[in-house]
Amino acid sequence: MKIIIHGGFFSESDQSHEVKVAKQNSLKNIAQKAFEYLQNNSAFDTVAYAVSLLEDDELFNAGIGSQIQSDGVIRMSAAIMDGETQKLSGVINIQDVKNPIFVAKELMKEDDRVLGGNGAKNYASEHGFENFSTEIPQRRKEYEAKLNNGGKGTVGCVAIDKNGKLAVATSTGGKGFEIPGRISDSATVAGNYANSFCAVSCTGVGEDIVSNATSAKIVTRVTDGMSLKNAFIKTFEELKTIDGFAGAIAIDKDGNIYHQDSHPTMVFASFDGENFEVFN
Ligand code: ASP
Repeated sequence: MKIIIHGGFFSESDQSHEVKVAKQNSLKNIAQKAFEYLQNNSAFDTVAYAVSLLEDDELFNAGIGSQIQSDGVIRMSAAIMDGETQKLSGVINIQDVKNPIFVAKELMKEDDRVLGGNGAKNYASEHGFENFSTEIPQRRKEYEAKLNNGGKGTVGCVAIDKNGKLAVATSTGGKGFEIPGRISDSATVAGNYANSFCAVSCTGVGEDIVSNATSAKIVTRVTDGMSLKNAFIKTFEELKTIDGFAGAIAIDKDGNIYHQDSHPTMVFASFDGENFEVFN
């Protein structure tokens, strides 16, 4: 049993040392809680649980604390993928729900498993998700500063459970100040992908992650026999050719954990019951 989570990249709003330390501490607590949960739950349930804790923490740009888009509205995206069934479900540009990842998880029961915009919100309301504003004053301040001046930090979790099953979940408030209707990588197979060999979650500039098909490529390479490390190295070399900005976390079927970023500003934590790794 192992778990790795990420808290995205530092945004322009949280470059301070204090925020960095607060994020590291929070990641450590959440990795520990999620690891405890993993003892008696599947990887699939655990990744959703871990991401919901990250969404509830306003330090991170997902759920509460999400970035505001250029028209003043928050739209969030989240996806979950079960490595065993290879099914992905997700929401794109959903408004006013506390935990987009739980709506994404609820959709796993459906044939139509990725919903966007009003459809996603209507589905959430019909399935008992209450109206909830995820805006915090700090994000409004940043938004207003951007309006006057003419802007990242997704969250994700990958876990392997006691039966060796892999799963991944990713949730984002977007890159901030985007054109309404923009679709990030987080609820696509570029940003969130798993099968029975490997599971990967990405953060960074969505357009770069999609252009490089980052998660899907890493998982495919590992499935075809490449080591997790080499799959990362090759995929990040390719990202460089498009001057891409991204980071990723992963676990393979043998329990190897790996992470890499194009710019060393990603925050993440991994835990295997004994050893903690917290970086950046
Ligand atoms: N990938 C997200 C996006 O492009 C942002 C992030 O990871 O911070 O919307």
